[in-house]
Amino acid sequence: MPTPQVLPFIYEKMSASRSLTRKSHLPKKPTGVAARPFHYDRDGQLLCDAVPVAKLAARYGTPLYCYSASQVRERLALFRKHFSRQDHLICYAVKANANLSLLRMIAREGAGFDIVSGGELERVRRADKRAMARTVFSGVGKTAEEMDLALRAGILLFNVESEQELEVLADRAARLRKKARLALRVNPDVFAETHPYISTGLREHKFGIDISRAREVYGHAAKSKWLSPEGVSVHIGSQIRSAAPFGAALARVRALVKEVATDGIQIRSVDAGGGLGIDYAAPLDAETFDAAQEVAAYAAALIEGLRGLRVRLLLEPGRFLVAQAGALVTRVLYRKRNGTKEFLVTDAGMNDLIRPALYGAHHEIVSVERPLNAEAQSATMDVVGPVCETGDFFARDRAMPDAQPGALIALLDAGAYAMSIASNYNSRGRAAEVLVDGRRVRLVRRRETIEDQLRNEQ
Ligand SMILES: *Cc1c(COP(=O)(O)O)cnc(C)c1O
Repeated sequence: MPTPQVLPFIYEKMSASRSLTRKSHLPKKPTGVAARPFHYDRDGQLLCDAVPVAKLAARYGTPLYCYSASQVRERLALFRKHFSRQDHLICYAVKANANLSLLRMIAREGAGFDIVSGGELERVRRADKRAMARTVFSGVGKTAEEMDLALRAGILLFNVESEQELEVLADRAARLRKKARLALRVNPDVFAETHPYISTGLREHKFGIDISRAREVYGHAAKSKWLSPEGVSVHIGSQIRSAAPFGAALARVRALVKEVATDGIQIRSVDAGGGLGIDYAAPLDAETFDAAQEVAAYAAALIEGLRGLRVRLLLEPGRFLVAQAGALVTRVLYRKRNGTKEFLVTDAGMNDLIRPALYGAHHEIVSVERPLNAEAQSATMDVVGPVCETGDFFARDRAMPDAQPGALIALLDAGAYAMSIASNYNSRGRAAEVLVDGRRVRLVRRRETIEDQLRNEQ
C-alpha cells in the first residue's frame, strides 16, 4: 500500500489518465448543456454567463468565488427531467456549498436539503423556512441538541447511522413529544472507485449501519412509540464516475426493503445519497463532459435498482449540482524560479481552496484574459499560494498560460467543497462570493475582514 502522503498524487494521475480515455467516446448527441458556465468571448475575455470575470475581480477584489445561478438551475432541471418517471425529491447536500443565497435559489426551485449539522439546519431555515419539511439530516455524530433543533423544525427524516444514535433520538423525541421520522443509513459494503478519503460505502468505513444488521435494527425502532422508521438510505461516496456502484448499492437496499416488509415494516422512501462525479480534468473548451448523459445513466441505474418497489426516491446530490458552476478567481502576485522550477504565486491559497492539498485534486486553470497565442506562450510551472505550507499548491508542473504578475487566473470547478471548506489559516480572511445570473451580479458574501476574525477573541 502506498503511504497516505503519496496517495493523493497517484490519484491525481489516475483521474487525469481516466479522463483521457473518456475522450475517445465523445457524447453521441450534443445536448447544448455546457459543462461549465465559463467561456471566452471573441476578444478573449473569460465570461461567467454573460459577465466578464475581469470586471468582477476589479469590482469585488480577489480571491473571489464566482458562481453561475443559471448553471445550478440547469443541473436541477436535468435531475427533474431524467427522474421524471420516478416519484422523487432532490435534497441538495448543503455541505458542498452552504452559501445562503445559493440555498435560497435552490429552495425556490422546489428542492429539499441534506444537512449534517445544526449550523446547516439554521442555514436552510433562514434560506426558506418551508424547506425544513423537505430536509433530511445525515451524519455519524448528531448531538442531542442538534436532534432537538431538527425535531422542533419538523424535518422530513433523520438518516440514523448507528444503534446508539437511534436510542438517543428516541429519548429526545419522547422528551419533546414529537415523533421522529427516520431512515436507517445502511452501509451496503459496495466498492466505488474514488479517492480513499471520500469513499464511504465499505464495511470498514465509519458510515452507516452494517446492512446485515439493519433488519434487526428496524425491528427495534418499530417498537418505540416515538420512532417512525420510514426509509432506508445509502451514500457510498463522492466523485464517483460510474453509475454501476449506485445501482449495486440500491439492489442491496431493495432486498432489505423486501425483508423488512415481511416483518410488517413498510418502507416508503429510499435515499440513494449523493456522489455523482464530474470530470475535473476536461479542458475548458473540450466538449468531453455531457452532464445530461451523466444524469441519464445515473437515473437509469437507480431506477433499475429500485425495480418493483413502490417508494419515493430521495437524492442528495452536492458536487454535481454546484461544482462546475463555480470558479475561484485569483491574481498572480509573483513569478519566481527556484533552481529548475518555476512558480506562479497567487493571492489565493490552500485556505481558500484545499482540494489539491487534501485530495491531490486536479483543477483546470485558465487565464481570465486569454493570451492571443496561448499555445506558444505556455510555460511549465507550479501554481502556489501564499500560505506557509509546501502543500499550498493548486498545480504542479503544469503547462500554464504565460501569466505575469497582476494577471488574473481562474481555477475551474470550484463551486463545491471549496468555499465550504475554506478556513482562516494564516489569519487570512475568507474570500468574497458573487452569484451571477445571466447579466446580473450579486455579492452574496462580502470579503471577511480582520475584525470579523477577531470578534470572538479576547
Ligand atoms: C457528502 C454527502 C452527500 C453529497 O455528496 P456529493 O458527492 O457532493 O454529491 C450526500 N449525502 C451524504 C450523506 C453526504 O455525506
